[in-house]
Amino acid sequence: MSDCLFCKISAGEIPSKKVYEDELCYAFHDIAPQAPVHFLIIPKAHLASVSAVTPDNCAVVGHIFAVIAKLAAEMGLDSYRVVSNIGAQAGQSVPHLHFHVLSGRDMTWPPG
Ligand code: 5GP
Ligand code: ZN
Repeated sequence: MSDCLFCKISAGEIPSKKVYEDELCYAFHDIAPQAPVHFLIIPKAHLASVSAVTPDNCAVVGHIFAVIAKLAAEMGLDSYRVVSNIGAQAGQSVPHLHFHVLSGRDMTWPPG
């Protein structure tokens, strides 16, 4: 999508600190980290949020979770949290599907 921040980041049109990339997804450090480890992982194909996931396009979500598990293992993360905010009330500020991966500090539950 032409006017989407994360589409531009995954296409390299806006700089980011890359963590991982393949043909389907792109992972990069969050610009405002909320934990010692905080990166985002996104599908390269634009989807607005989890709400846009359907049986026809859901394969990329499984792929992303496999990549998260691989990256976490490579980083030696024993414990981490994966978060996806959907909609403004839940805190979504960028309307391109993304999963936050947070680690390296104690976390509370439930989230605020
Ligand atoms: P959301 O609020 O939608 O769940 O998460 C969006 C995340 O994107 C936020 O944690 C925010 O810090 C991050 N973010 C927003 N703009 C940029 C940017 O230009 N570059 C990077 N690397 N992260 C961004
Ligand atoms: Zn997009």
